[in-house]
Amino acid sequence: MKTTDNPMNQARLEAQLTHLRAADRCGAKTRTGRECQCPAIRGRARCRIHGGRSPGAPKGIKNGNYVDGTFTAEAIEERRWIKSMVATLGKGEQR
Ligand SMILES: [Zn+2]
Repeated sequence: MKTTDNPMNQARLEAQLTHLRAADRCGAKTRTGRECQCPAIRGRARCRIHGGRSPGAPKGIKNGNYVDGTFTAEAIEERRWIKSMVATLGKGEQR
């Protein structure tokens, strides 16, 4: 009886290694101060060790550091928008 899996056929292994080398790298800062550089989880910026599968800390009031909403993503974006509007209107008055 012949086996169908040829252990000397390394094509599949080489393909896997090629994909691994082409993968995005983890950008987490390590204790040496450099980037981790492990392959990142697909579609994420971090590897399996540095929270690649984690959705991150809870947003808004569910987060333990939430105080009054001054620094929520929406509030920051709103202030940024107001600042850009003020800058745009200010340019108009100079003429
Ligand atoms: Zn990492």
